[in-house]
Amino acid sequence: MSAPIAQPRASHFIDGAYVEDSAGATFESHFAATGEVIARLHAATPALIDRALDAATAAQKDWAAALPVARGRILIRAAQILRERNRALSELETLDTGKPLQETLVADAASAADALEYFGGMAATVTGQTIPLGRDMAYTLREPLGVCAGIGAWNYPIQIAAWKAAPALAFGNALVFKPSEVTPLSALALAEILVEAGLPSGLFNVLQGGAEVGAALATDPRVAKVSLTGSVPTGRKVYAAAAEGIRPVTMELGGKSPLIIFDDADIENAVGAAMLGNFYSAGQICTNGTRVFVQKGLRAPFLKRLTERTEAIRLGDPRAEATQMGPLASPAQMAKVLRYIALGQSEGARLVCGGARHGATGCFVAPTIFADVTDEMAIAREEIFGPVLSVLDFETEDEVIARANASEFGLAAGVFTRDLARAHRVVARLEAGTCWINAYNLTPVEMPFGGVKASGLGRENGHAALEHYTRVKSVYLGLGDVDAPY
Ligand code: NAD
Repeated sequence: MSAPIAQPRASHFIDGAYVEDSAGATFESHFAATGEVIARLHAATPALIDRALDAATAAQKDWAAALPVARGRILIRAAQILRERNRALSELETLDTGKPLQETLVADAASAADALEYFGGMAATVTGQTIPLGRDMAYTLREPLGVCAGIGAWNYPIQIAAWKAAPALAFGNALVFKPSEVTPLSALALAEILVEAGLPSGLFNVLQGGAEVGAALATDPRVAKVSLTGSVPTGRKVYAAAAEGIRPVTMELGGKSPLIIFDDADIENAVGAAMLGNFYSAGQICTNGTRVFVQKGLRAPFLKRLTERTEAIRLGDPRAEATQMGPLASPAQMAKVLRYIALGQSEGARLVCGGARHGATGCFVAPTIFADVTDEMAIAREEIFGPVLSVLDFETEDEVIARANASEFGLAAGVFTRDLARAHRVVARLEAGTCWINAYNLTPVEMPFGGVKASGLGRENGHAALEHYTRVKSVYLGLGDVDAPY
């Protein structure tokens, strides 16, 4: 086995410094394109979890009392450092996730930097209200929650860490973040950069490990809020654990989103969006439009162009900048995706292209298209989280809306049509947290992001994130005598 090639200085980052504790269970991070071990780490022990939460609790008080503009300045400086080191950070993310460098160069550290800039700028704009009450008055203070816990998924590791850290820190909280055990590395790089930018020790801590570390954070009385990005089954557990302590949560969970393409859509744009919404990051994106509903009149030309363009996707070593699609993140994820492909075939869906593992090493699955998919098939109901696109036919607007909404999930949805009145009419009726019209999968930091139904609750990004990392204190100011009846 080759030597680790992305070994961090230690597994955890606590109170402003790297920390190791070899008493924690050992686990490895792999480069999914080759299976090579790139780092060996230890899961956090209960003693380290304690240390991180104590450090965060101690640091948060002064941070909450700091001038908001000073807090924001540090985050903006961190964003600048992220951008300066974008290539190195992208290479690290490519090794850890298997995503092609072509993507990580533009979508990972860069979007983490966007979040730090956005919330860094917003920090000093947070104000309360004054409420006239005749003789008296009231005012509100928007206060930080305290110590927040963040738990991440493996598809966008540094982005997920920053989408939680940036608003938490901007508004005066501390964060203890647990990355996915599949992709543990880039959160440590973010921690180093935040400290370099001037973030006081203890405000952003990284603890490694799996479910048990996440569960310990979700139930700890020192934690004021839990933000999870993960699957629906994990969401149910973390939400329930947080509920025990009456802790607020943000839940960014899975999806099975509809992408609805009407007869009058621009076909090349619709095909491009369907591909982006199914094959970018090898399909490992929560918002993916995995149910592609195509109106009958466009069905044949759409499938033809979709197949032609999909067959031209360049799979390969994600470190090569020309590569357009890399492996899935882990052998377990590859096995799951291949199981769904076999299930789709046995359920009677028509395999149009792909449908198999690509190559003998690494976790590559060829981009796969199923046509003639029907609503009751498992491939049309369950989240696969891989490069598997299902095409479903439809005839009328009412029909497609009802079918699009017939899902336990409600993360996202897309509509392609040249008829903008129809586009707005349709999105108004779709049960989804984020909708795109003639676009797909764009999630700029300025726009609130999150799901409805089983896809989650709470919103990340945009002004909406303020609601989820602060609370309102009302102050009643009596300006006259107390009117007591006794
Ligand atoms: P996962 O649910 O298996 O794990 C997510 C995180 O939760 C990991 O860090 C894991 O260690 C931790 N965890 C697992 N069990 C836990 C428990 N009982 N208590 C506390 N923590 C626990 O998800 P994954 O496989 O890493 O990621 C893929 C899933 O994430 C997909 O369903 C995808 O849709 C979803 N996702 C959602 C968004 C979003 O913003 N909505 C973004 C990315 C991924």
